[in-house]
Amino acid sequence: MNVEKEELSFNLEMPAVGVIKGVLAKDIEVVGERVVNLRTCARPYRNIYTVAQLRTIRNVIEKYGSGKVHLSPRHNLEIPEVRQKDLDSALKELYISGLFPGGAGTSVRNIFTCPHWCSKAVRPVQELGMMVSANFADRDMPNKVTISFAGCSNGCSRPQNSDIGVIAIGRVEAAGGRCVDDCLKCIEACPFGAIDRTGGQVRINDKCVYCLRCVDACSEGLLHVKETGFRVLIGGKEGSTVRFGAEYAVFVGDFEVLEIIERALSSYLKKAGFRPGSEKKRERLGEVVERLGLDEFMKESPA
Ligand code: SF4
Ligand code: SF4
Ligand code: SF4
Repeated sequence: MNVEKEELSFNLEMPAVGVIKGVLAKDIEVVGERVVNLRTCARPYRNIYTVAQLRTIRNVIEKYGSGKVHLSPRHNLEIPEVRQKDLDSALKELYISGLFPGGAGTSVRNIFTCPHWCSKAVRPVQELGMMVSANFADRDMPNKVTISFAGCSNGCSRPQNSDIGVIAIGRVEAAGGRCVDDCLKCIEACPFGAIDRTGGQVRINDKCVYCLRCVDACSEGLLHVKETGFRVLIGGKEGSTVRFGAEYAVFVGDFEVLEIIERALSSYLKKAGFRPGSEKKRERLGEVVERLGLDEFMKESPA
């Protein structure tokens, strides 16, 4: 046995049971001798951090880390170069401030939503994001799963390239009144060429993506919101290969969104195989959708 080598090796000592419930090795990455990177995020889901939490982060990185913090693309805070001996103390201080380890490995990653104050939002998405986080965040999966919510079709939270993407949408209706002469305001406001004007009236055509930008543009009140709901995309992905999610449902409500997410995750658990040429790495959700087709993927199957 090579004693010298063994003495130099690093064994991650996880926090004692009961110190912080739910700390997993995947959330703590060994990067060097007795040094770790720590991932943390607010629970239940918030990708908004309070000033108090940011103060805690500052204290933790100054006391136990190297004075740096990285904000990941899914709004996890990554604190690099924490000394092993300080791991318990760092986790405790974060925990007291409502910051938990999580959002890494082959699991449902940090749920990503738009901020609630954006004036373009067709419907708020943060509460739905919190419900999804409370039910599904950090659940073990065959590979990582990203779930994103966008308040409008701009998709700032990248729902199109997430395993499951949810976008708030609204259906606009032309009230049928006569337009002001020469007015083109709604037509100019629509980025998709989805409004035609003939004979002094407007008509919405099938290029509409339900963003509702035209409604505010009409000062005559001739355009109304008929209904709002969510569009659900399944099977998108970012990374070395990029996929856009396929549309699974439109104009569904909050509880249907939860049901669809539950069904998609359950199908993924049952139907994921190994990636070609690998006996360890499992397919991403989008790869299973590509192999089976979306309808077959979403079909209920026995446990
Ligand atoms: S997707 Fe829409 S609601 Fe969300 S941040 Fe972007 S513009 Fe605002
Ligand atoms: S809802 Fe959006 S896409 Fe549809 S007509 Fe209005 S502006 Fe155009
Ligand atoms: S619907 Fe309103 S904004 Fe559009 S052309 Fe008619 S009057 Fe103008």
